[in-house]
Amino acid sequence: MGWNRRNFNTSTTTKVIPCQGVYRTPEQSSTGEMEIFREEAERLDDKKPLMVGGQAVLEGVMMRGAGKVATAVRVSDGHIETEVRDVNSIADRFPIFKLPFLRGVVALGESLVLGLRSLSYSAQMAGDDDEQLSDGELAGTMLIAFALAAVLFVAIPTWATRFFHTLTASPVMLNLLEGGLRLAIFLGYLLAISRMDGIYRVFQYHGAEHKTIHAYEAGGPLTVERVQACSRFHPRCGTSFLLIVMLVSIFVFAFLGWPDLLTRVLSRVVLLPVVAGISYEFIRLAAKSDNPVAQLFKAPGLCLQRLTTNPPEDEMVEVAIASLAAVLPEEEKARMGLPVEEKMEPAAPTSDEQAAAITANM
Ligand SMILES: [Zn+2]
Repeated sequence: MGWNRRNFNTSTTTKVIPCQGVYRTPEQSSTGEMEIFREEAERLDDKKPLMVGGQAVLEGVMMRGAGKVATAVRVSDGHIETEVRDVNSIADRFPIFKLPFLRGVVALGESLVLGLRSLSYSAQMAGDDDEQLSDGELAGTMLIAFALAAVLFVAIPTWATRFFHTLTASPVMLNLLEGGLRLAIFLGYLLAISRMDGIYRVFQYHGAEHKTIHAYEAGGPLTVERVQACSRFHPRCGTSFLLIVMLVSIFVFAFLGWPDLLTRVLSRVVLLPVVAGISYEFIRLAAKSDNPVAQLFKAPGLCLQRLTTNPPEDEMVEVAIASLAAVLPEEEKARMGLPVEEKMEPAAPTSDEQAAAITANM
């Protein structure tokens, strides 16, 4: 894997190009905003955007697309530091991982690793850490996070259903209650962290990431003004994905009946890839389609993004644009009104498995 680092002068990313698109204010309802971008996307059908995804990091944004991952971070002296890396999915080497359900599990695993790497890079750039995590430290961090998540979102809710045993003994009802408790803990957790000081800014960068991807998918141009006019809610977001995971897990676990506590905890952890694989296919289908059923699936996730995204400052949008620009082929950058390098390379088509990996990375 080749590493290279690029510096983006912030002023180069804000070139203003006149645009014919219909502008709306950022704080309008998510469905309204989706609609205008749909119209624009249809008009630009011959120039279909590449599949891109991203994630907020410390004082920055990670973007993934067309075989590359970029992390752009606003460092303490004010300039934007961007790191670009080629990524190859394991699905490129082992085509079995391109199959539905399996692709979701692979995409999620890979996006967790890439996301944590980017986060570690941003912590280093933003001045919190002296060096990036080694592979061993990365694995350790993920293991600890996974164990904490298992206690918080699996063990506690399934144990706490004991308080409802006097109400019902039906396994289906107990599973529903457990799912309800899990959802309540998840929402409480999001609410708690969204109040934390540092997290507010991360969630602003999350908003900047969504807005930038919307502006790109609507055909650009990628100017701060244009990006700020886009919605901060995106249907392929990880927030939406987690919500679908909560719902799908109720149905999957209901098939297991209601065994003892230890069996319940173990079976839920073991079946997590199955739940994730199914959820992933749901969110993929819903993101592609606009029928009422898909809208119904998307609505709660979009609503929850009111909590996990905040309106970004213009300086944050500049970072998100720099990050996306770093993963776009030159031809696409030109189309988006971004500065291009001399040599034009043809736009690489996004393969199915790349698209699958990217969907998980929002
Ligand atoms: Zn998101």
